[in-house]
Order: sequence, then C-alpha cells, then structure tokens
Amino acid sequence: MIASVLPTYSRAPLTFTSGEGSWLLEADGRRFLDLGAGIAVNVLGHAHPALVSALTDQAAALWHVSNLYNIPAQQQLADALVDHSFADTVFFTNSGTEACELAVKMARKYWYEKGEDRTEIIAFDGSFHGRSSAGIAAAGSEKMTKGFGPLLPGFTHLPFADLEAVTAAASYKTAAILVEPIQGEGGIRPLPDDALKGLRDLCDRHGILLVLDEVQCGMGRTGKLFAHEWAGITPDIMMVAKGIGGGFPLGAVLATEEAASGMTAGTHGSTYGGNPLACSVGLKVMEIVAEEEFLADVSRKAGMFRQRLEALVAAHPDVFEAVRGAGLMLGLKCKVPNADIVQAGYAQGVLTVPAADNVVRILPALNISEEEIGAAVAKLDAAAAQMQGVDA
Ligand SMILES: *Cc1c(COP(=O)(O)O)cnc(C)c1O
Repeated sequence: MIASVLPTYSRAPLTFTSGEGSWLLEADGRRFLDLGAGIAVNVLGHAHPALVSALTDQAAALWHVSNLYNIPAQQQLADALVDHSFADTVFFTNSGTEACELAVKMARKYWYEKGEDRTEIIAFDGSFHGRSSAGIAAAGSEKMTKGFGPLLPGFTHLPFADLEAVTAAASYKTAAILVEPIQGEGGIRPLPDDALKGLRDLCDRHGILLVLDEVQCGMGRTGKLFAHEWAGITPDIMMVAKGIGGGFPLGAVLATEEAASGMTAGTHGSTYGGNPLACSVGLKVMEIVAEEEFLADVSRKAGMFRQRLEALVAAHPDVFEAVRGAGLMLGLKCKVPNADIVQAGYAQGVLTVPAADNVVRILPALNISEEEIGAAVAKLDAAAAQMQGVDA
C-alpha cells in the first residue's frame, strides 16, 4: 500500500521537535548541530527572535490579502532588494522553482516584445533549477527528466564552466544563458570568476540575457549578499529563494528594467507570492544579512571553517578527497560514499546534506558561532574516524 505521504522522499529516521540557532532537538532528546540549515534556508538559524517576532506580529495583524491590493511589506522588501543589488525590479514567488518559471518566461518575453525569434536558453550539466517542467528541462539530467516528457523545448546543455563550448553554441537564437554561480545540488561546484566574467562578456556581445540562479548561493552565503558580486559582474535576471525567507517559504526574481520590460500588467502573477507573512520575515532577514558587518563576519568564519576542514581532509585521506566551495557553502568531496558520511554524522549528532559528485554539503546558518564551528569539525572528525573503523 502506498504511503499516505507520496513516497518521493527518502528520509532519515530523525524527527526534530524544536530548534535554537544552529541546534536541533530530536524527539528522543538528542541535540544535533545543524550544518544543513534546511538546505541553505535557515540563514539565521532556528527560532531567531527577530524573525519569530516579525512573523508573529504580522500573523496577529494580517495573513493574506492577495495581490489585488497593496502589500506594504512586499513593497519594502522589493525596495531593500533593489537598494542592495543590480536589480531595478522584483517579483516575489514562494519557491526557487517558481522563480525559475518566471526567469524563463521573462527572458523569452523580452525577445518576443523586441520582435525577435530568440527562445533558446543555454544551461549546464550538473545544474539544478527546481522540479517544475521548466526547471527539469533547464537542468536536463536524465535523473530529473526521465519519464516526464515531452519536456519544455528550447534548452541546450553544455559542460559546466566550459566557456569555449558556450561561445560556440551561442547564436542569434539564444535568448539567455542560465547558470548557478556555485552549483549546489550538483556538488558545490563554483563557477570560476573568470568564467562568469566570460559569460557576461559573451552575453554583452550577442545581446543575450544572463540569468543567474542564486537560489542556493545567494543571500549572504558566500560572504557577499549575492555570489556574483565576487566576479564584479551583474546579471540581467536573478533567481533567489531558500535563504531569503530565513525558513519561511519565499522566493524572488530580480531583474533590470530592460530585462523585465516584457512583463507588463497581467503577464504573470501568483496568489501567495509576496504575501504579508513571507515578506515581513524576508524584510527582517534582509535587514540583518545585508549589513556589511554581518557579511564580513560570514567571510571571517568561512575562512576559519574552511581551514579546519582542510585539516580534517588531511587527517582522513582515505575518507575525504578535498574541500571546495565558497563562504559558508562548502563541500567535502568524499572517497567513501557521501551517504555513509552523512549517516555517520547522525551518530555523532551533526547534520550535513549529500549532493551529486559524491560530495557532502556544509551549509550552516550564517550566524553559526566560532565555538559551533569547532564543535562541527570535531563531530565530522569523529564521523570520519567511525568510517575508518578507528577510535575518534
Ligand atoms: C533549491 C534550488 C532550486 C529550487 O528551489 P525550491 O524552493 O526547492 O523550489 C532552484 N535552484 C537552485 C540552485 C536550488 O538550489
């Protein structure tokens, strides 16, 4: 008999009942150090007092009115995102997948309004853009698309970070290039700054729209508000989600005025997108995360975390191969199956997230403390020792 919850997930046998900061309490009383943060979502940890009051204050006042009316928190959050980014305009969604849907629609509509037949979108192997029909077509992997055809047409898939391949494939039919500055699900694979700059140049030469998927790497995770800032370039369109709501469902598409020019009244919408609850929390997240000091602190702690992980890898050369990533978006490339490391972590009271390419992801809350980083590495060390069958 089928499970009452559609059996599309394979879950760990863990049930968390409460959380505080980077810690989660299991129903059986064990405490876990959370290095997954709900897959890069809980950027300020669990039960952050400022987010709890932002949500509960709004909940006491008004939950939902629809986009038939003005939503002050939505307006304020859009203003804050515009102030802190390349963007001139923002559309709010409830998830990264919905952000992908709009990014694709926006890019195609742009060219339609220009009277040009440009619908092709270049995307990359190993990418992840969500589970909708556009999202799986954009990612293109057999794992995600098999059996779900016919797929949304118009996507070309190229090797990640292969600028030559992109240059050869780009044409007057190309509407957009869609890329994650750091692939998350694909195994914490950063696009080198030069490659991102190269894509920007190529887009400029051919008038192609550069669409960045910062759903996982954005919102302070790399030590800048958005990961592309490190390369000194700006996109035309950007997808954001995960961290933006600090744990409350929220996503967004940010765009320049030019790139958004096809999206006029009635061309897109969402019942829940930009609702008062999500935007009140999102506004508080932005207030905290977009602060220079907060971001500098992320970079400082990330440097320390990375250094300790390098030492961990060196101490367990049979278990780990390398550390990769940027900021607090880190990956441990494993020699043993990554799922075994994640599993061994559970026994040590630490939560990590597996990714493709046999990588264990480390995506902690951005306000994780130095002591907690120390505790995290000690737990990972014990997990690795457990893998090697020697005493921790
Ligand atoms: C998680 C993710 C998505 C999809 O977001 P959902 O909120 O799960 O729909 C899209 N792109 C990237 C890069 C992601 O990490």
